[in-house]
Amino acid sequence: MPRLAACLMACLGACLGAGFAAPAAAFTVFACEPEWAALTRVLLPSARLHVATHAGQDPHHIEARPALIAQLRSAHLAVCTGAALESGWLPTLQERAGNARTRDVFFAADHVRLIDPQPGAIGTPWAGDVHAEGNPHLHADPRNLLEVARALSERLGQELPAERAAIEQRRSAFEGRWRTQIAEWERRAAPLRGQAVAAQHTTFGYLWHWLGMKQVADLEPKPGMAPTPGHLQRLLQGLRAAPPLAVVIAGYQDPRPGRWLTGQLGAAVPLVVLPATVADDAAEKELLQWLDGLQRELLQVARR
Ligand SMILES: [Zn+2]
Repeated sequence: MPRLAACLMACLGACLGAGFAAPAAAFTVFACEPEWAALTRVLLPSARLHVATHAGQDPHHIEARPALIAQLRSAHLAVCTGAALESGWLPTLQERAGNARTRDVFFAADHVRLIDPQPGAIGTPWAGDVHAEGNPHLHADPRNLLEVARALSERLGQELPAERAAIEQRRSAFEGRWRTQIAEWERRAAPLRGQAVAAQHTTFGYLWHWLGMKQVADLEPKPGMAPTPGHLQRLLQGLRAAPPLAVVIAGYQDPRPGRWLTGQLGAAVPLVVLPATVADDAAEKELLQWLDGLQRELLQVARR
């Protein structure tokens, strides 16, 4: 009998354990960009994640592939940037997935003060990514990640009431670590304050804003429009007169316009290629390494 009792207890324990673990383990999140997958992993490590884009892709322009439709169909929550970053592809995915649970998307941009709003600006086929609501590339300012983490933990807590306390505990611990890190970054990045850069698109607008840097030229003639020889020629005059620290592009952007421009400006102005985000399986450590790496690259140039 004692053996039977022990067996029953073990079975009961296993069943209860599985019962407690099941809701969170099965909770599936569709993240439009890897940074939101990483933040979701910080708050809910047990979540199953589908990530729609990777650092090598332009998040403005994604094809609504069947695999993505199937992933969105199986998700309990979609976590995206918003501010129209995904307006070219997410509505199509939503329509085709037909999943009522992911209709109310968690948009990070709803919880952050966006920079550079352009009220009334309208995108056209020749100026596709105008970002009238403001710059959506908000994850390059680590302070924004704290704001998004706060709102996302609330939302996850609503979706998973039994997990609410644990999610809040993880968020609070993350905030403590992150605030310490932000202070350290700000101290280290002091030499970058006031530095000017030329860049392609507003991809790193929040990084410049956070570190007190200035984007003095955009390689795009109009937002979302690929650089043209005429526009680069015009930029060249101004940049020769006041050379910037560097010409900066994102890893997913065509390097040829930037290469041409830095070739014309000479060795004093290097081309710096920065990854636009983390890897799609990243978590807190990779978010930290990514932001750390962005500054490290720029500081290296500033110290030359
Ligand atoms: Zn953009």
